[in-house]
Amino acid sequence: METIVTRFAPSPTGYLHIGGLRTALFNYLYARANKGKFLLRIEDTDLARNSTDAKEAIIQAFEWVGMDYDGEVVYQSQRFPLYQQYIEQLLKEGKAYYCYMSKEELDLLREEQRKRGETPRYDNRYRDFQGTPPSGIQPVVRIKAPLSGEICFKDGVKGEMRINAKELDDFIIARSDGTPTYNFCVAIDDALMGVTDVIRGDDHLSNTPKQIIIYEALGFKVPRFFHVPMILNPQGHKLSKRDGAMSVMEYKEMGYLPEALLNFLVRLGWSHGDQEIFSKKEMLEFFNPNDLNSAPSAYNQEKLLWLNSHYIRELSNDSLNMLLSENFNVETPQEKVQEILYPEIKERSKTLVDFVEILKDCLQEPKRYDEKMQHKVSSEENIRLLGEFCAYIKALKKPIGTAQEAENEMATFADFHGIKAKVLFVPLRYALLGKSGGVGIAPLLACLDKEEIVKRIQAAIQTLKN
Ligand code: GLU
Repeated sequence: METIVTRFAPSPTGYLHIGGLRTALFNYLYARANKGKFLLRIEDTDLARNSTDAKEAIIQAFEWVGMDYDGEVVYQSQRFPLYQQYIEQLLKEGKAYYCYMSKEELDLLREEQRKRGETPRYDNRYRDFQGTPPSGIQPVVRIKAPLSGEICFKDGVKGEMRINAKELDDFIIARSDGTPTYNFCVAIDDALMGVTDVIRGDDHLSNTPKQIIIYEALGFKVPRFFHVPMILNPQGHKLSKRDGAMSVMEYKEMGYLPEALLNFLVRLGWSHGDQEIFSKKEMLEFFNPNDLNSAPSAYNQEKLLWLNSHYIRELSNDSLNMLLSENFNVETPQEKVQEILYPEIKERSKTLVDFVEILKDCLQEPKRYDEKMQHKVSSEENIRLLGEFCAYIKALKKPIGTAQEAENEMATFADFHGIKAKVLFVPLRYALLGKSGGVGIAPLLACLDKEEIVKRIQAAIQTLKN
């Protein structure tokens, strides 16, 4: 049986963004699900535009999301001699030729074609040239593209593709300084790396016929192609940074979990019934590039947040502690806090940044008090109630151990004062957190020391008296 070999081939000219990560994911899943190979090739031939940081960011992002590739990373910049060898082979076999047309001549030709309403294209004037080359011109190398017929391929997403040979000219495979061109490198590499399936963005669709011409000239087997439509913003336009076209590592900083991001991405352009949540195992089981959608997909921030909160709720306390400490420098709180407050905080967190914020709000006394709430709470009655509750807590013989015990204490206190326990909730929330929202009051009371509760209530009373 044929071994499936896929690859991800980013150009490290900018940081890896989520569109790139989605392409990588599709290739990764297809290879892994078929016990094939997933290769990583850095397309860094554009030496002027490359950045080492971007290369590292790609590798870092792969590590973060847990996507491993096989073998060594291939760097195109290290393979120039190899490309050279194939250019020479094509020249020798008469499948490519030197073209001595100067830039001025080419510009003139294009201008004339445009005037005649034709698509500008090279006119093959050196294709069968036998004469003496003009002096002073460093020639480019052009491949002999088919003069008639069609270049056909079956795209796994777009369907049957047929390109009339007349739409292509003898395109350049080596520039006048000898460097190979983009499509040439891609075709040689995919062939030599044994890539069987190319899954990539449909912005590369127009490159494919040229790459096929190169494959065929060299007698290489043409891979299967899957050109995936772009991810658009909800308005149907190209994703901007504001819509989410950020570097993958920025998602980490913003408190997203890799599981959520991958789950989000796999559903952009692919579906399996109406299932939304996919574990890695399920992605591997169900993903098939033949099911990729031919319509563009839309980036939906709400959905990403929804998935992220789902995966946050699934985290064990230990994993959560590790993430909080490694990514956000948060000290692991005592066992009781983890047990009682973590479930409460998880319920309210869409990102780990939310989680950190809510946890800090619980464990630190309020730095400021919400003005609206202050206004709402500041009555003689509330001040008196808070004072009494403070005294009640102080007088407790033993610390409050659980949220249930805290509920019971509030109920006992309320009974004694002939009020409903819920009358206490808002003033206590104001005293303990300084703002509305946040975790339940009972679990919070259960996690704070008596002294801390007393201190916070006393401080709040002061703000109400002023
Ligand atoms: N280097 C190309 C890019 O980053 C991808 C090339 C390919 O997948 O064939 O868009």
